[in-house]
Amino acid sequence: MDDKRPAIPLSVLIIEDSEDDATLMVHEMKRSGYDPVIERVDTPDAMSKALVDQTWDIVLCDYRMPGFSAPEALALLHKSRLDLPFIIVSGSIGEDLAVAAMREGAQDCIAKNNLARLIPAVERELREAKGRRDYRQAEETVKSLAYYDPMTGLPNRTLLQNRLKEAISSAARENHPLAFLLLDMDCFKGINDTLGHPRGDILLQQVGARLKSMLWESDTVSRLGGDEFAVLLPWLAAAEYINVVIQKIQNAMKTPFMIGDLPITVEASIGIALYPDHGTDADTLIQRADVAMYIAKRSGSGYAVYSPEQNQHRPDRLALMGELRHAIEHDQLLLHYQPKISLQTHRIIDVEALVRWQHPKHGMMPPGQFIAPADQTGLIKPLTLWVLNSALNQCRAWLNAGMGIPVSINLSARNLRDPEFPDQVNGVLETSGIPPDRLELEITESAIVMDPPRAMEILKRLSGMGVRLSLDDFGTGYSSLGYLKKLPVDEIKIDRSFVTDMTQDEKDAMIVRSTIDLGHNLGCKVVAEGVENRETWNRLAALGCDSVQGYYISRPLPADEFSHWFGISPWGGKDVLI
Ligand code: C2E
Ligand code: CA
Ligand code: CA
Repeated sequence: MDDKRPAIPLSVLIIEDSEDDATLMVHEMKRSGYDPVIERVDTPDAMSKALVDQTWDIVLCDYRMPGFSAPEALALLHKSRLDLPFIIVSGSIGEDLAVAAMREGAQDCIAKNNLARLIPAVERELREAKGRRDYRQAEETVKSLAYYDPMTGLPNRTLLQNRLKEAISSAARENHPLAFLLLDMDCFKGINDTLGHPRGDILLQQVGARLKSMLWESDTVSRLGGDEFAVLLPWLAAAEYINVVIQKIQNAMKTPFMIGDLPITVEASIGIALYPDHGTDADTLIQRADVAMYIAKRSGSGYAVYSPEQNQHRPDRLALMGELRHAIEHDQLLLHYQPKISLQTHRIIDVEALVRWQHPKHGMMPPGQFIAPADQTGLIKPLTLWVLNSALNQCRAWLNAGMGIPVSINLSARNLRDPEFPDQVNGVLETSGIPPDRLELEITESAIVMDPPRAMEILKRLSGMGVRLSLDDFGTGYSSLGYLKKLPVDEIKIDRSFVTDMTQDEKDAMIVRSTIDLGHNLGCKVVAEGVENRETWNRLAALGCDSVQGYYISRPLPADEFSHWFGISPWGGKDVLI
């Protein structure tokens, strides 16, 4: 052993009736550079007590003792539900007993006359136990991501929708009204821009906590994303009482929030929909609260209870959708391209096509303004086909120019419910002559949860054609390990909300690390999006992430600018691909 290295602490529970044999084992550990803390026991009672009294790294157990045995000790360990490596160290017990013990959960059997094997076995089992712990931790994180907003710890949209549905059933049974409120903070973007994102986050946490503290325990306060909150009041004695609650919320918001020494006053616009007056199912109530919130915001009145005439007050979306149809047919859409870079080779592996709308009146419109309504109205089908066609044509043009860059495009929920979609993809691939493995489709978990069995079938068909699949915006609130394991995806993209601040925010860093582990355990490559600086790149490389995408490497660029970037960037380079 290297004398200069400090001894490594190791806590070992030794189940052994012979003190001398235990001493020999301790000696072996010390010789290999460990500083063992041990306790020797040789009865079931003493073992049970030791398991409760202290945390152990490993258990070493003799096979046969006067009042105890290894199989009994294993049974006790299982009952305790502790996942501790268990190694049998005994005189010769024969192969049959050894195999039987390993089947019962012992990790290894070592003969006392061959103690040289002890330390390598201990070290291997400690490593494996750590692997199991890391996996469990990753699993826990993902489970909590499924129902809670990681930033505020409040229930997310999925959990809120579940609770709303339950509340509607019980309100129907017990014949009382309930209320659903949407709250959107006014001018939050300004606050975020002036004070910075970390302070903006603190403010959102405080808003969530304050809302929660003034409502009943049985009410649900949820963060839906951005600066949007929802409140579910599952029980109202009568519809009129909603005014009391609104008053309470508005009063509570009047007291400034303290961000450090800085008092900040926020105003919120509240939209309210009531069961059964405004809707009798969850989707309708949510939509109507949204309409009411829009009215509250536009009129500056602070709050609005839904009324049927309000539905007509949102014509702009509809008008926009009429124009979008025209835009798809008349090539007013265009694609920008953003590369993904391998952290191993530091070279481009793929480029993501992101759609924009060159609107004649409103100028260049980002996808955030038209993708969601296009998905709701079905226009997303021709839009996605347009994107697929353009992206593959571009891919072909690059290939002809000696740049063999695979492309990825984004899909929406409705694409995953469209049984014709896989055939359409096939058709476009054939026309463009691009091999299927040069196309990647980015799908979101939120799109899958709309109709998991149907989405699964469509994804299997796409994957069967050889097209690669990537799970986009991973971690934003819908993950369920159950279907994740079954999805035929090749890649997971960690959402940029976790990546962008991971060098400052330990919680984000922890989520990123867990997601990388989880992705790898599921056999997927892991991409981090939203990488905006070198520090984040380095941190991700250290965590074993496979590739990165973000402004640090390149913003999404029009095709010709991208070709130029590819020619001059250290991450591009015509020599790397084809
Ligand atoms: P997404 O798929 O998550 O795309 C990444 C978005 O993050 C893009 O916004 C991109 O410009 C932005 N981004 C990339 N790197 C960074 C960075 O380092 N920092 C920051 N702050 N942002 C970064 P974009 O182009 O506005 O697209 C927004 C969303 O619209 C996309 O999110 C995607 O969900 C959707 N979308 C875009 N094109 C299409 C499309 O053709 N079809 C469908 N269905 N959805 C699309
Ligand atoms: Ca994407
Ligand atoms: Ca994304």
